[in-house]
Amino acid sequence: MPHKRLFLPGPTEVRTENLAALARPQIGHRTEDFRALYGRVIPKLQELMETREKVFLFTCSSTGVWEAAIRNCVRERVLCCMQGAFSDRWLKVAETNGKKAEPLRVEWGKAVTAEMVDRTLAKGGYDAITVVHNETSTGVMNHLGEIAAVVRRYPGVAFLVDAVSSLAGARVPVDEYGIDVCLAGIQKAFALPAGLTVASVSARALDRARTIENRGYYFDFLEMLKYDQRKETPATPAIPQIQALDAQLDDILAEGLEARAARHEMLAGIVRAWARRHFAIFAEEGYESGTLTCIRNTRGISVADLNRQLGLQWAQISNGYGDLKEKTFRIAHMGDTQEWEIRGLLATIDRILGL
Ligand code: PLP
Repeated sequence: MPHKRLFLPGPTEVRTENLAALARPQIGHRTEDFRALYGRVIPKLQELMETREKVFLFTCSSTGVWEAAIRNCVRERVLCCMQGAFSDRWLKVAETNGKKAEPLRVEWGKAVTAEMVDRTLAKGGYDAITVVHNETSTGVMNHLGEIAAVVRRYPGVAFLVDAVSSLAGARVPVDEYGIDVCLAGIQKAFALPAGLTVASVSARALDRARTIENRGYYFDFLEMLKYDQRKETPATPAIPQIQALDAQLDDILAEGLEARAARHEMLAGIVRAWARRHFAIFAEEGYESGTLTCIRNTRGISVADLNRQLGLQWAQISNGYGDLKEKTFRIAHMGDTQEWEIRGLLATIDRILGL
């Protein structure tokens, strides 16, 4: 079966150059070669995340670092912003780690606003807040800067941000926003194979971790810090992914943060215009994601059938998530996707559906 070009909101299409980087000869993780690799990757990630805080490499998918953020930064009570499948799940992670998790829930397709966050945090008693920047199940991108400005007014509240499907496709200026933990998997806008999650961890978050018992073993920020000082990770990391990340970060930074975000927005504009012409957009107006578009299936097409037909031409889009299956479908325009690819995809869908 030939490879299908992925237009999924993760995993995304990986360029052959980066696949080749995965196949570089292996190196030991307690060697000078690894320390040199680590020493190259971390400053590039700091540049991408616009931070001077620590950035750690976690060998796990993003779900693992949700758990890490909760275990290291939440003493008792966390406010979880919920607006879709992924943000909802972060609350579950907090609860299953024995924390008191309270929801700030909005309808799927709607954004969480700074005003809602302010009103809820003002009640007091929270030691952290979780926010998903870009809710991948609904295609809603929250206005993170506005939320950040509010969270900064509550100095006791650790600001935990999931930028899983936004980082490397949209600007996430970690220090300007005062984010304590900002995490992202590399299989989305980084356009790399899954298996590694990067996260910035602020000095404030590390101080918080020092006051918390039972942080667990694999995800202990203080262990990560100890090993970071010698440019290593506590356990064997996903070395191939780190080698590919090293190569891809050069290309991402060469493209430039602003230019890369602008390309994503330009592609989003093309998909949104097409979606408005033929269907409708699921996300609340003004909060449409720059990295993927969730399209309301107003024509009642069979999304499964459309994808089958696209598959015959070696392309794949994404069904709606969970309850939204068949009610919506999602086209990702993140990572290294170019205009000709998106225009080609939409023209092919037009032909298949007779639009
Ligand atoms: N957060 C967001 C916004 C996601 O889209 C996803 C997965 O798609 C996750 C977290 C969980 O990532 P993983 O399945 O890689 O653990």
